[in-house]
Amino acid sequence: MSKYLVDLRVALFQLNPQVGQLEQNIERTWNLVHRLKSILDQDSSKYPQLVVFPEFALTGYSFHSKEQIKPHVSITRNSQSFKFAQSVSKLFRCYTVIGYPEESMDANKHGRQVESVLYNSALVTDPSGDLTFNYRKSFLYDTEYEWGCQENPRSFQKFTMVFEKCAIEKNGTVAAAADIELDASIGICMDLNPYKFEAPFNDFEFSSFCLDNNVDLMICPMAWLHSKSITKHDHDLDTINRKLESIRRSLDTLQLPIHGSQGVFQIDINKELCTQRRISREDPLLSDSQYDQLETPDMENVNYWILRFLPFLNLNIRKSLWYRQFIQLNESLVGRERSYMGMSKEKSWKFEGRNSVLLLCNRCGIEDDGKTIFAGSSGIYKFNGKTARLDNDYETNIDSLNESVDLLGNLGKGLEGVIMRDIEFEVSK
Ligand code: GLN
Repeated sequence: MSKYLVDLRVALFQLNPQVGQLEQNIERTWNLVHRLKSILDQDSSKYPQLVVFPEFALTGYSFHSKEQIKPHVSITRNSQSFKFAQSVSKLFRCYTVIGYPEESMDANKHGRQVESVLYNSALVTDPSGDLTFNYRKSFLYDTEYEWGCQENPRSFQKFTMVFEKCAIEKNGTVAAAADIELDASIGICMDLNPYKFEAPFNDFEFSSFCLDNNVDLMICPMAWLHSKSITKHDHDLDTINRKLESIRRSLDTLQLPIHGSQGVFQIDINKELCTQRRISREDPLLSDSQYDQLETPDMENVNYWILRFLPFLNLNIRKSLWYRQFIQLNESLVGRERSYMGMSKEKSWKFEGRNSVLLLCNRCGIEDDGKTIFAGSSGIYKFNGKTARLDNDYETNIDSLNESVDLLGNLGKGLEGVIMRDIEFEVSK
């Protein structure tokens, strides 16, 4: 095993696609891609090596029946999303990840007849535009059940991506940059939550999978909701009407149509700009749960996403917990090969001293006639594996205040746009 210092340039595109407007969605996205290209064209060595688009990036997300989604699903290689990803990959000579509705012709149980099975998927094209991986969402959200989406029978998966000339061997004799093979995993939106919102919160299924499989790059295309959104859990009419009214008021104030902002692009390719660590705004009128200040991230969600990666966060409490769980309680968890809340059989914090990069690429905007609001706030995070300052090992924060996660930058909650960063991190190969 050698240690490598990797320098990777990544771009996340945040979009507001609308169901039934494939052509406009694609056209606007191409404009944005070309906008980025023309800015970078002064020096093409500055092109991103990995580009990520949201869940259902070109088709829109809110489908409510099988009949409605049917015209928008395709076999991976026949999909518009594949062609699109292929073009982006060729344009920048980069890997591209994009979410899309997949129809698969699977053999039925007896292996004879083929039947159409629908998935919420993300495909990956390599720098030559070839399809290299296809992942299907494992944990489904309310909306997917409405159109008969199936769970990924293989659950979470790991795959490799090879990046050219971007790794320097630490303590090596050669200073030239080498190619590096990174382990990646895709989690689509609800994959970050407890299974069906029913599994124990502390299982942290996706992040534990990534920790246990030494994943270097965690790539998450998402259509995550803003807290103002109306969901199927809002039952009584009063609540729904009150929420609808408040959304309309926000949109009036912002002078935006019912589907939110489109075509006003936030382009953040300034690598100096980190996101400020913050729990919540003190002033309740400016609280994060408002749909306003569309160019700033929704910290309520940013903090929640970080919490869902708790196995990657340095935590003081782990030492005593580990002792109790693994040693004192008659080795209650020793039988398990997998880590639990970041603790493993061997170490109180399995991730200590390692690095891993998290890319959360969320959509923005509004669907369902003003009912479904997405949270945007796409961001780039690096878990740095550092224990707290030498003088004390006191770290209790389970959100953006935890210093073992570097917040390399976020887009705002409500504007389309692109964020690009150079990420420096260490891997052992
Ligand atoms: N729980 C997520 C949310 O509230 C899931 C959405 C999704 O899977 N698209 O937004």
